[in-house]
Amino acid sequence: MFLSLTNRTPDATDLGHLLHKHPARCHEVDLAFGKGVVFYPKATAEECTAVLTVEVDPVGLVRSEGARNGGWALGQYVNDRPYAASSFLSVAISRAFGTALNGRCTKRPELVDRPMDLEVKLPVVQAPEGMLEKLFQPLGYQVASRRLPLEPAFPAWGESRYHELTLRATVPLHLLLKHLFVLIPALDRDKHYWVGREEIDKLLAKGEGWLSAHPEREWIVRRYLKYQKRLTREALERLAPEPDEEDEEVESTGTEPEVEKKISLHEIRLDLVAECIAACHPQSVIDLGCGEGKLVSRLLRQTKIPVIHGMDVSSRALEIADERLEKIPAARREGRVKLFTGSLIYRDSRLRGHDVAALVEVIEHLDPDRLESLEEVVFAAAAPGKVFVTTPNREYNVLFEGMKPGALRHGDHRFEWTRAEFREWASRVAADHGYTVGFEPLGEEHAEHGAPSQMAVFERV
Ligand code: SAH
Repeated sequence: MFLSLTNRTPDATDLGHLLHKHPARCHEVDLAFGKGVVFYPKATAEECTAVLTVEVDPVGLVRSEGARNGGWALGQYVNDRPYAASSFLSVAISRAFGTALNGRCTKRPELVDRPMDLEVKLPVVQAPEGMLEKLFQPLGYQVASRRLPLEPAFPAWGESRYHELTLRATVPLHLLLKHLFVLIPALDRDKHYWVGREEIDKLLAKGEGWLSAHPEREWIVRRYLKYQKRLTREALERLAPEPDEEDEEVESTGTEPEVEKKISLHEIRLDLVAECIAACHPQSVIDLGCGEGKLVSRLLRQTKIPVIHGMDVSSRALEIADERLEKIPAARREGRVKLFTGSLIYRDSRLRGHDVAALVEVIEHLDPDRLESLEEVVFAAAAPGKVFVTTPNREYNVLFEGMKPGALRHGDHRFEWTRAEFREWASRVAADHGYTVGFEPLGEEHAEHGAPSQMAVFERV
């Protein structure tokens, strides 16, 4: 079994720090069912690839449960287990890259949540038709898959049920490993271990922050838990309901740009921001321009953050946010959440005292000459430890079908910035108010036009 992982973010060899495996060496990992080896065929500052190969011990395999192959006599000896990505590979990932999978890096902790330009290659993956796309695209991956022939020497035999798979996304490494850890065994039908109740905890821990909102949540849970009805029901009950369902019931003020809807970019963006905020382990978060409460509801459901406040100038948006939050069990929300009306252009003591502030797709709704007041209010007066600001990347607009040149994504947008314009603004704000700032693309990146949205992460010095 084979997995390759390529980082193309500048200082690409940071991958070695995160994986706790030095790129110059070859690392062996003992596994109960065989041996894993990690090595780096390429390790330069521009591109760094780590490969994990897993050799399954054939004797152990014959004795193990996973080798049983539907009563076919030779199934014990001739089967796909040594090649196809399966639960064996997931276990090997957790053994070889356990620290990275659990989001820890003592030497370079700042790398853990940094979204990186990552590519994964899996040469043999068993998957029902269309399922690779359905599983990975909602998580923001670019998916390239090719159905493998049953036997290349005899094309007439047709295609096999295996695919060669390449995934690419800008995500924190730990999240990518969690996606693989859960989705590989869900795709493969066999599990080499006994699936009991403890598998639910493992699934929910690795699925935290993304599984509950995944459109194929039920399929994933059912397959991961090997179709055991009782376990599947329990796991699904413990997972929060899918936000998309409630979105249909809750009326909308139409704050989400029409052109973006097709690819549910906003959902992906909110998931990523929620994920990044949760990773800072704040005690208190304020969502400024919280709108209909989509980020607040994610933070309530998916994290243990004790205090989550939302502020918006629109009382109609806040009513809708209230309705959305009421759907969350009282025990999860009471004492943690507060929504209030306010404006980002007036100093407000209620904005003070938070570890993290978020402004998700808000600044572009203010007239440019009001931005200075917003800077004062957020960065000078409220002065949270970290501020996450996202805004559309105007360069990407040419890729939206049917959008006229020079048009903005939403009727209420006062401006949309290029990546350079956003960087210039954010760097100046950081310098003026004693913050450092880093930038992340949000959504699938286009080689020339960048990602659909962009995020600046400010940290007070
Ligand atoms: N952050 C939300 C909503 C984005 S839409 C989300 O990601 O889903 C932009 C929001 O900013 C709207 O809800 C709008 O009411 C709010 N807004 C615009 N100007 C504002 C201001 N001056 N003060 C506070 N909120 C404002």
